[in-house]
Amino acid sequence: MLKQTIKNFVSRLFTPTPPRPTGPQRYTVEQHRIDRRLVSRHAIKVCEVLQQHGFEAYVVGGAVRDLIVGLEPKDFDVATNATPEQIRPLFRRARIIGRRFKLVHVVFGYEVIETSTFRADAKDEELTDEHGRILRDNDYGQLEDDARRRDFTLNALYYDPTTETVVDYHNGVEDLKNRVVRIIGDAETRYREDPVRMLRAMRFAAKLDATIDPDTHAPIAKLADLLENVPESRLFDESIKLLSCGNAMACLRLIHAEGLHQNLFPFMDELLANEDDLNFVDNALARTDSRVRTGKSLSPSFLFAALLWPSVREKWQAYQKQGQPPAQAIASASDDALSQQGRAMPIQKRFQSDMREIWFTQTRFDRVNNRAIWRMMEQPRFRASVDFLQLRAAVKEVDSVDAQWWMDLANADTDQRTTLIADRLPPKRAGAAKRPRRRTRRPQRSAARSQASDE
Ligand code: ATP
Ligand code: MG
Repeated sequence: MLKQTIKNFVSRLFTPTPPRPTGPQRYTVEQHRIDRRLVSRHAIKVCEVLQQHGFEAYVVGGAVRDLIVGLEPKDFDVATNATPEQIRPLFRRARIIGRRFKLVHVVFGYEVIETSTFRADAKDEELTDEHGRILRDNDYGQLEDDARRRDFTLNALYYDPTTETVVDYHNGVEDLKNRVVRIIGDAETRYREDPVRMLRAMRFAAKLDATIDPDTHAPIAKLADLLENVPESRLFDESIKLLSCGNAMACLRLIHAEGLHQNLFPFMDELLANEDDLNFVDNALARTDSRVRTGKSLSPSFLFAALLWPSVREKWQAYQKQGQPPAQAIASASDDALSQQGRAMPIQKRFQSDMREIWFTQTRFDRVNNRAIWRMMEQPRFRASVDFLQLRAAVKEVDSVDAQWWMDLANADTDQRTTLIADRLPPKRAGAAKRPRRRTRRPQRSAARSQASDE
């Protein structure tokens, strides 16, 4: 009997106590230090209304991450246990969107608060394709399920604006503090489910100046080719996000190091091998970063026009050497660069036509005569083309005084434009001397001309 009791006691001592159900960590405002005044009042409103109706509601995702590290969030998302059909009637302007996974856009003037219902795991293998990519996920779940479905620990933070508490199931606050990008769950499985997560890992590492956790990092190079299965439009959207992460060149280098560029930016191998080209793109992207920091918008066509310019420029020169006139040579060079890009990730037609116009206009700046400048200024991409000229001037590809003259012209009102153009020296055109002159020049040229234009 005694023996038995001792045996039971000893066995109890060595049997591990069943794991306590570990709940999430909760951080108070003193700990996470989110300044509530920086949270969109509309996002707060959505949470409050949902909570008043008995639902759970949190600000979630990138906004919480950015607020904790002191960056300005791009947008605010809300997650709740209310279904889309329950959410919609609670707001004056709200619409259900999406077919695969429905969510609600709650609209306040210019701000849209994307409000989604907690998601559950994709349990059924039939819902993934042969590479493991999730094709359908419709199940609603609990907060904890929703947290597990998110990509990285630092993106799985939930902020309750009422209690000012951050709920954290995956140690995301610690990772964020230590600047570590860590995937939730098994890395390879998560990348197979959605290969875009590999690009997102690079983006958050560049944006937050973070390292990628070794297990999160390890399978990426091996799985890079999975990006081939991602719809082109999604890749294009993601490429714009990569370029507007605030640290674009660092992001491109990370992507290149893993071989992820093949399906997005095929020009990168050549670019990194040529110092002049790299300088041009480096400078263009530094300007992009500073626009992002000051909250200015970015134009996809301008961005891609800059990224592809080294390749366009090289081909442009080659075609001219073969005897093509500059305008024809730039058109051929543009075709080549866009089709190389298109084989990996095509750029939408409307952006392509803007890019062509920006490139074509570069051939005109030092050739156009004064009368044609007025027509040139009416073109929709004139301003962008002049901005582009500044990028070329910054790497001494064109004269910076000329580039500044065009910038002044773009910024001027009509009267100032008239004066600027009248004072401009005529362009040095190859073969211009051979052309018969229609009228002889007056002796005091510039004074006479500016007077003439005043008349
Ligand atoms: P950004 O600053 O670019 O808006 P973000 O983290 O908010 O970054 P979004 O694309 O707006 O990115 O997504 C919002 C949130 O949705 C993410 O923070 C993450 O929790 C989740 N999420 C987005 N994309 C994925 C994905 N591919 N897999 C899993 N979770 C994702
Ligand atoms: Mg976001």
